[in-house]
Amino acid sequence: MRRLVLPALALALAAMVANPVFAQGKGTIGIAMPTKSSARWIDDGNNMVKLLKERGYNTDLQYAEDDIPNQLSNIENMVTTGAKVLVIAAIDGTTLSDVLAQAHGKGVKVIAYDRLIRDTPNVDYYATFDNYKVGVLQATSIVKALGLPDAKGPFNIELFGGSPDDNNAYFFYNGAMSVLQPYIDSGKLKVQSGQTGMDKVAILRWDGATAQARMDNLLSAYYTNKRVDAVLSPYDGLSIGIISSLKGVGYGSGDMKMPYVSGQDAEVPSVKSILVGEQYSTVFKDTRKLAQVTADMVDAMLAGKEVPVNDTKTYNNGVKVVPSYLLEPVVVDKTNWDELLVGSGYYKKSQIQ
Ligand code: BGC
Repeated sequence: MRRLVLPALALALAAMVANPVFAQGKGTIGIAMPTKSSARWIDDGNNMVKLLKERGYNTDLQYAEDDIPNQLSNIENMVTTGAKVLVIAAIDGTTLSDVLAQAHGKGVKVIAYDRLIRDTPNVDYYATFDNYKVGVLQATSIVKALGLPDAKGPFNIELFGGSPDDNNAYFFYNGAMSVLQPYIDSGKLKVQSGQTGMDKVAILRWDGATAQARMDNLLSAYYTNKRVDAVLSPYDGLSIGIISSLKGVGYGSGDMKMPYVSGQDAEVPSVKSILVGEQYSTVFKDTRKLAQVTADMVDAMLAGKEVPVNDTKTYNNGVKVVPSYLLEPVVVDKTNWDELLVGSGYYKKSQIQ
């Protein structure tokens, strides 16, 4: 026994000396991310860990593979093991009330990361992007590609929404519709399926295969003798499914031009798809900046200083307006990917080309 304990102690001491994070003991920050199935959340997690470690915190980063009970138990664990702050990108923004009440009861602070946490008073701050603007950018990119407002049309468009349990999905959809609705009303854009509204177009858990299946159905039910000219897609992972459905019936080859398909997150496969002329655009949200803002919030909260926010009106979570910091999203297409994604150091050119 002694023989085992002593080396272990020696190792722990060595770690304390070698690892200033441990030695400074600024406490542990729990980071709960939804899933590793999308590259953006992997980047988010890595960025948060890197920054918080540089600032002297320990981190506890957990993924939940889009499973709500899994995420709940991740967060419960963080609270039990003494996290000082929870940074949470929720899978379902409405399911965390109990665990957050428990956390606040113990004095743990809570930051909603990227996605708003709803129906609880126990969320302190929200760090995100201007989600309404994301939708505006997606739709504007499609509208410009179609040559509107000048072009006569009418053009056929189909609409996709994000996961109905993610507050962001409504902001994306409403932002996009603020641009598209006037053209739908004037008849320049037609939704041949008649499927509009989040209750009809949402894709649970942002699942690409579900989007692909829905696009298959739309094509066979409404487009056997018509062309679809554009598809509003709120996320690159859905765009990939939608595009493979379109390719399945011949779009993108011969004289069947690929419809203009939007996206979000500037994920590598989608940037590549933009370069070969399949996906039309995506929206880039620099996750490094989001990590920076969130780490600034953590620092300020724990030091009892004023927490940086730039919006105190938009994000009502059903119980209160959560003070927020909104970052700017930007649209990326064939013309500016190099400057925005490579020029900013987000990707290396070799990752894309
Ligand atoms: C995020 C998007 C992402 C989507 C799917 C949303 O909450 O804001 O960036 O595309 O989730 O992961």
